[in-house]
Amino acid sequence: MTASDWDGRVVPYPADRARRYRASGEWSDAPISARLHESALRHGDRPALITAEGTLSYRELDERTDRIAAALGGLGLRRLDPVLFQATNRTATVLAWYGCLKAGLVPVATLAQHRMHEIGHISRKVGAVAHLVEAGLGFDLVEFARHAADGHPTLRTVLTVGAAASGTHRIEDLGADIDPAEARAFVESVEAVTDPQDVAVFQLSGGTTGVPKVIPRIHAEYWNNALLYAQALGWDAGTRLAHLIPIIHNAGISCALHGAHSVGAALVLATPDHVAAFALMAEHGVTDVLIGHGHYQAVRSAEFDPVLRTLRGTMLSGAKVPAELFRRVDDGGTRWAGQMFGMSEGMFLVGRSGDPESVRRTTVGTPIAPSDEVRILEPGTETEVPDGTVGELCCRGPYTIPGYFDAPEHNATAFTSDGFYRTGDLAAVHVVDGKRHVSIEGRIKDLINRGGEKVNAEEVEVLLMKHPEVAVASVVAMPDARLGEKACAFLVSATGTTLTMPEVQQHLDALGVAKFKWPERLVWVPELPKTNVGKIDKKRLRADAAAPLAAETTPQGAGA
Ligand code: AMP
Repeated sequence: MTASDWDGRVVPYPADRARRYRASGEWSDAPISARLHESALRHGDRPALITAEGTLSYRELDERTDRIAAALGGLGLRRLDPVLFQATNRTATVLAWYGCLKAGLVPVATLAQHRMHEIGHISRKVGAVAHLVEAGLGFDLVEFARHAADGHPTLRTVLTVGAAASGTHRIEDLGADIDPAEARAFVESVEAVTDPQDVAVFQLSGGTTGVPKVIPRIHAEYWNNALLYAQALGWDAGTRLAHLIPIIHNAGISCALHGAHSVGAALVLATPDHVAAFALMAEHGVTDVLIGHGHYQAVRSAEFDPVLRTLRGTMLSGAKVPAELFRRVDDGGTRWAGQMFGMSEGMFLVGRSGDPESVRRTTVGTPIAPSDEVRILEPGTETEVPDGTVGELCCRGPYTIPGYFDAPEHNATAFTSDGFYRTGDLAAVHVVDGKRHVSIEGRIKDLINRGGEKVNAEEVEVLLMKHPEVAVASVVAMPDARLGEKACAFLVSATGTTLTMPEVQQHLDALGVAKFKWPERLVWVPELPKTNVGKIDKKRLRADAAAPLAAETTPQGAGA
């Protein structure tokens, strides 16, 4: 693969903006792997990565990933070859991530939960050459990877983390016999030919129409995005940062892995199982953590008490923060909390420790880079709304993409004429002490945010309507106490026969759709409500989907 293979498919930043970002220092000329090495030279014996499996110092992480990189090169993988990642939060996943970057390969941030519907499409879109899967999970991803490579035009190498499997290359075993100096020389030879504007990583978007869009992130900005985030939160080499949600997500890479390593902090990498995660966090004296709304409830439980002993900073993200939760992690003294808004396309906003408490509790704060630009537009237009008024959050800046990968038609509507990305989120600006803080007020885009995993309504509707018994499907969010939202499908039968939940699940399973997208409630209706312009009235469906739950959770005797 060469950069020119992607000519016309990767939208470059306009030259004048690229020049500005380089001049301001928000862009870097060094590849991501060189930034990690720099950190390792500075923080050698400090802990870089702590998991339930053990601790790696910066030096160990750097040396092991040099060797893995050299071994990946030895397998015939070449600079800019995309590598699909389907692995969970473990030491070898991190080794694989940095090993790939050091070999000049491009990690593709797919999820362990993805199945053929997603992997088949994404792997072809980017021309994936290797597939990294975790062995030993409930679902046999190794077998799945072999199947995915069948008849695939480019996929030829299966890499594994965890248990060994025949015909694959286990990350933990790679490069053990390679001389460290030779491995370093290999990495430097790759870095020498890396252009700062080369694609470093492909992230995935959950929030657009149809199938997931691919987000190219480049060397010039991706590590600095994480560094700016770490600086905004005041992290340094004394920080012990915990992360519980999938590390390969953009939030995992930017707010945890690269963020911690850009300032010499220790990353305590836990898993989403909150009991084990909180125990690991307490054991290692965690000072900072990002809590996604899938864990809001768990933080209120007694299991979180031991974490509070050393905790200083908590970022809350993904949904409105209940006052009681905020108080739990913000005691007005040593412990402070703020909210974070972030997206794989770029833009991060954060509440900072110096912001007034009421601002941190009710807004997601301010952007992290000096050149970040935020505009709130009247939806569907390029007209800015006055401060305090709700409109669509649009943004532009040194690490917000100027375009999705190979998606010219979508890009034509996803950006304003002057390159602001239309997030599809509703927001308002609140000016406090001269600073423009943003609050998130809902969204325009048609998705379900299931504990941080985005489910695209249109994508699931199309899949449901592939069943001969389904004439029309409309998928909306319904509230869920633990995950925030789940998908509810309103269905109209084609023949008068209705399908049971297991039958619908079987249908989606046969289509190879990731489980987290499956609707968790079915409502069969004779017809769907329409708006006065004849479109399906999703607002009404959302209210209908929420109603039974609201009734169930209303205490007896409450209300009028
Ligand atoms: P992703 O690219 O998967 O990180 O998803 C980005 C999207 O998550 C945003 O466009 C929002 O819709 C949603 N999101 C992120 N942070 C927040 C937040 N603090 N509050 C509400 N929604 C959020």
